[in-house]
Amino acid sequence: MIRAMTDALIATLLAPCCACCRAPLEEPTRGAVCPACWASIPLAHDPLCETCGDALSSWRTEAGHNRRCSRCHRSHRVITRGRSIGPYEGALRDIVHALKYEGRRSVAKPLGTLMIRAGAAVLDGADFAVPVPLHLARHYSRAFNQAAELAAHVGVPVVHALQRRRATATQTDLLEGQRHANVKDAFRLHRRIPAGSVVVVVDDVSTTGATVDACARVLLAAGAREVRALTAARAAARLP
Ligand SMILES: [Zn+2]
Ligand SMILES: [Zn+2]
Repeated sequence: MIRAMTDALIATLLAPCCACCRAPLEEPTRGAVCPACWASIPLAHDPLCETCGDALSSWRTEAGHNRRCSRCHRSHRVITRGRSIGPYEGALRDIVHALKYEGRRSVAKPLGTLMIRAGAAVLDGADFAVPVPLHLARHYSRAFNQAAELAAHVGVPVVHALQRRRATATQTDLLEGQRHANVKDAFRLHRRIPAGSVVVVVDDVSTTGATVDACARVLLAAGAREVRALTAARAAARLP
């Protein structure tokens, strides 16, 4: 009753809009994105690559490759399992943008809930989550780290084990080959981790997986037994 009245009052006086479709929010106290937009997120569904979580064209395509996509089969990734809610497009893209660039931190919790659902295989048996760190300069200008906001809601303890050693160019603007060079040696250990732990690296968007892989290499060198990745969205890589 009180919530309904508050919603009506806020909706009338402030007329807040959905961060995604920009339609007026009927229940603004329930968050910055309308229920229709949440429901329209295209979810990743099987068959998926075991390693990166990319959609496979069929269960049979990569027979004999442990259900891995051709890219994971080719490359020497250290991440053992990766998952994301779905492709970086439509409502999911807008919601991640709202979190990252508009500071709508309220969307982190529902995104985290969707990440738990999509990432059951990644979170199973995991000891803790490590958010991909921002460089300090970017952290101060944005006031928060979107990866840490998401990590706080995936249901396992969070350890800020990594630090970004240097500012790197935004991965989105780079080609696949350039991304690995861009993040190589970009991270260092910030906090010691228990030897033999199973760690989940959390980020908002993963494209080629170069960033989470660079994080994973530091964590493995620090004693982790296994490193997995959980991201809100998976973007298609630009072809060279
Ligand atoms: Zn909407
Ligand atoms: Zn893959």
